[in-house]
Amino acid sequence: MKMNKKIFRSSLLVALLVLTASFVMIIGILFNYFQLQIEKELKNEAMYISIAIENEGAEYLKSIVNNEERVTLISADGTVIADTSVEAEELENHLDREEIKKALADGYGTSVRYSETLTEKVVYYAQLLDDGSILRVSTKQYTVVTVLLGLSQSISAVILFTFILSFILSSRVSKSIVKPINELDLDDPENNNNAYEELSPLLSKISSQHKTIEKQLHEAKKQQEEFSLITENMSDGLLVIDKNMQILMCNTSAKKLLNASGNINGNVFSVNRSKAFRQSVEKSLGGERFENEMMYNDKHYKIIANPVYEESEIIGAFIVIIDITDTIQREQMRREFTSNVSHELKTPLTSISGFAEMMMNGGIDEATVKDFSKSIYEEAQRLISLVIDIIRISELDEKSNIFVKEKVDLYELSEEIIERLKPQADKKSVKINIFGGKAQVYGVRKILDEIIYNLCDNAVKYNNNGGTVDIIVRTTDDEAIITVRDNGIGIPENAQNRVFERFYRVDKSRSKEKGGTGLGLSIVKHGAVFHNAQITLDSQINEGTSITLKFPT
Ligand code: ADP
Repeated sequence: MKMNKKIFRSSLLVALLVLTASFVMIIGILFNYFQLQIEKELKNEAMYISIAIENEGAEYLKSIVNNEERVTLISADGTVIADTSVEAEELENHLDREEIKKALADGYGTSVRYSETLTEKVVYYAQLLDDGSILRVSTKQYTVVTVLLGLSQSISAVILFTFILSFILSSRVSKSIVKPINELDLDDPENNNNAYEELSPLLSKISSQHKTIEKQLHEAKKQQEEFSLITENMSDGLLVIDKNMQILMCNTSAKKLLNASGNINGNVFSVNRSKAFRQSVEKSLGGERFENEMMYNDKHYKIIANPVYEESEIIGAFIVIIDITDTIQREQMRREFTSNVSHELKTPLTSISGFAEMMMNGGIDEATVKDFSKSIYEEAQRLISLVIDIIRISELDEKSNIFVKEKVDLYELSEEIIERLKPQADKKSVKINIFGGKAQVYGVRKILDEIIYNLCDNAVKYNNNGGTVDIIVRTTDDEAIITVRDNGIGIPENAQNRVFERFYRVDKSRSKEKGGTGLGLSIVKHGAVFHNAQITLDSQINEGTSITLKFPT
């Protein structure tokens, strides 16, 4: 039950009880008062009438005509001598009446008698006269019942009025009692100046609990924040599920890896339905740590699923998803590279071994021996340049920190390279021009040198006799740009995006004949990636090739 209601009911009940009690008491007091008043009046009247009877005799009574009051004269033996309302002869002896008895004994006497219906009562006053006779005066008086019945309408009105009044007052009282309680500021229990004093222990208890809860909440929030800080900054996906496979937590990386967006909840299989994923979830919920790999959207993922125990009962699992696409691709490339390297090394070694064997067997003239030696020398040179290129590419692959960055001017560097390439160029009567001006790049001189050297070397190698090579060096607001352009044989369209692959050559025999290893442009590409530079290739068969590198400055 509501407190307000209870207080209201109690105060209403109290008000009504008090009202009823006072009503009854007041009525009782009033009646008593009127009774005494009547007796006093009757006494006075008896005194006047007795004087009149002494003067005029019993005849006087006949002159009194009053319905309300009755006067009786009774002789000392109880016989009624005269009566104002009934013939005296009809009345029996009055000696046994209470008031008469008292009057005979004490000189006066009173008594009250009720009618049978209790609606009326008669008050008697008897006085002993000097001659021994008794004068009795009586009057009717309404009883409480009569008065109540007669006044029932007004009394009902008063009761109704007081009831309404008590109702309103009780309601106000109960509200005003409850108001300070309702107005308690439970967020700040200590600061309730208007609260009842009796509530202080309760309020201080609430306050201390409040503080405890706040502290715990703060602690929990901090932990939660730390947890999400860690999980949100993880590059790996993290999923936590309960034993019913419902997702409890999913970090941003998991959403990204699984290509899901928005708020992820519900069954974990709604995120991914692949067999590998399902197996991991099921095994981990079965109590087993399980590792698996899966393909999704052309990417490779490793899934590590661990069961979560609470008192030796599995309550869920957490699943870590790691993107291993790069690792797998790198492994694949390394495998290919190794097999390519072995193949590339085998070819010159086989020819060296062949020439050496023939020379070992003897019977070859001196001119042929010279030829063979030349071939062995050339193959060995090939091997050396191959090994040098492999070492370079491995260095770049490792992204090792052995390289020191410095400010390098591409224009100046190009001029140096032109000098170095002069013998080859002259052999083919290829003319190398340089245009533009200073363009500084913050990079590794050795790598930049290799990039430009390889580009220019190719431009000479794959050029026609008497062709030209143009090197254009320029800058924009945020880039240093170098273009190496030739008017040589060009690269067929279908080979254009493959020339940067390791060991790829458009024409294998031609490249070999020119001393190519198939690694030149691959080194260029790696060097460009190292410097965050962007490469574009533009080539037209039989017209020429132009390769541009844009270095951010
Ligand atoms: P290589 O050692 O054979 O020159 P690269 O990686 O430097 O290897 O080049 C790959 C292939 O791209 C070459 O074999 C050649 O066929 C082609 N190529 C490279 N540069 C040019 C160019 N400037 N003009 C025409 N073809 C080119």
